[in-house]
Amino acid sequence: MSDYSKYSFWLETCGDNLAARPALTKSIEVDVAILGGGYTGLWTAYYLLRGRPDLRVAVLEKEIVGFGASGRNGGWCSSKFPVTPAMLAHRYGTESARALMLAMAEAVDEVARVCEEEKIEAGFLKGGMLTLARGEHHVPMIRSSFAAYERLGLGQHYQLLTAEQALERIRVANIHGALFASENASIHPARLVRGLARAVETRGGVIYEQTPVLSFEGGANPRFLTAAGEIRAKDAIVLAGESYLTQFSKLHRVVLPVYSLITLTEPLTAAQWSQIGWQNRESLASCNYTVDYLTRTADGRILFGSRGAPYHFGSKISDDQDRHAQTHARIQSLLLEWFPLLRGIKFTHSWGGPVGMPRDWMPMANFVASNKIATARGYTGQGVSTTNLMGRILAELISGRRSSLSQLPPAGRRSPNWEREPLRWMAVRYMQQAFARIDDAGKQGRRPFDAGVAEFLGRH
Ligand SMILES: Cc1cc2nc3c(=O)[nH]c(=O)nc-3n(C[C@H](O)[C@H](O)[C@H](O)COP(=O)(O)OP(=O)(O)OC[C@H]3O[C@@H](n4cnc5c(N)ncnc54)[C@H](O)[C@@H]3O)c2cc1C
Repeated sequence: MSDYSKYSFWLETCGDNLAARPALTKSIEVDVAILGGGYTGLWTAYYLLRGRPDLRVAVLEKEIVGFGASGRNGGWCSSKFPVTPAMLAHRYGTESARALMLAMAEAVDEVARVCEEEKIEAGFLKGGMLTLARGEHHVPMIRSSFAAYERLGLGQHYQLLTAEQALERIRVANIHGALFASENASIHPARLVRGLARAVETRGGVIYEQTPVLSFEGGANPRFLTAAGEIRAKDAIVLAGESYLTQFSKLHRVVLPVYSLITLTEPLTAAQWSQIGWQNRESLASCNYTVDYLTRTADGRILFGSRGAPYHFGSKISDDQDRHAQTHARIQSLLLEWFPLLRGIKFTHSWGGPVGMPRDWMPMANFVASNKIATARGYTGQGVSTTNLMGRILAELISGRRSSLSQLPPAGRRSPNWEREPLRWMAVRYMQQAFARIDDAGKQGRRPFDAGVAEFLGRH
């Protein structure tokens, strides 16, 4: 049996012994069968069972609950959405964009509410989020984000901070200002996903672990096929495997598995914390295209995550891609660039995992009544709260008890497929390198000659 604690600091410290639940041993029939024991699958199961306690719901997980991104992420539970508010307004109109942003803010509180009700000790702490302008070139970016929120009438959740105001909260090198967002919390990701699984079981759901789904079929009698037999579902099968869905040939191009990598320091001393500040434990980011996300953990460490590990030809996913020496070394040197006084600090953990990026960056939650297949996916590394919203939407679509949530832009839509290889590999590698060059050049006040092209492609 695999040692699942090695996959992340969070799985290691979630308080469970990580022994797998029993696998499926024979063919069965249920009302709803769900592939994936991550947040998407479990939130969907949870809300289905809340709505109808007599429903027969089964979750099939190829490893253990929390094996995927849900047990490995950066711990931000945020109202931030993978598509910017300006782009949402451009694509769907102001009203729909506003409704979606409000639903995202509400999802953050809903996660807290369920944790409270189900006694899930996920360390939920609503400290807000700071997007730092690290360099003069980032200042217009935070200003235009703030303006976009204001245009949606959401300015009250955001605040532009001067460099001095930002430094009062946190001492990071080279701050030129910040955007504070109040609707953001940090959580212990693995405790959330593992606690959610127990809540699903308490409400009558059954979770089979170490049960890979080998194939699936929709239709009047949809089903999953496993090595031990098939699981037939009366109402729906749900594909909640996020980036791993690409490993099915028929879903190979629905998202792009992009690795996000994390490094973690040892706990800082009280003296180091008093120099750094960061007393409210806000989630932290910069405006870099290569993405920086930071969390101050409950036990006083700094978690620093970033993208940039190379995309692998054919959307390959494997354990050996969870660690990438060059990218992890870059993240560690970035951390010292942010916090120069931490020179000499020890890094105790490094890990990573794939996030699912849709071709149009837009998450989706849909249920096709004609083949009884439901799916929610495409969170591009912003799924902790988004999965809660998508789980509620899927539960509504499957049960037919619709509310205004089922009118939100992600409901009932489909993202286009990614290009075929080798075009996909060439384009993604180009974008990854171009974004890294834009970030590096920005530090010296320059822009690479192809920055405009890369930015255009990044939006399309
Ligand atoms: C390193 C990292 C950092 C991140 N940081 C953040 C963050 O700070 N904030 C944020 O909002 N989001 C973050 N994310 C993204 C977020 O974690 C995900 O969007 C979210 O967890 C997706 O949940 P999910 O249930 O859809 O997918 P997953 O958690 O990946 O779950 C899918 C599950 O399906 C199972 N599975 C796959 N194939 C099969 C099969 N054939 N049969 C049975 N089971 C199968 C997998 O084992 C897995 O457990 C991060 C992601 C990563 C990788």
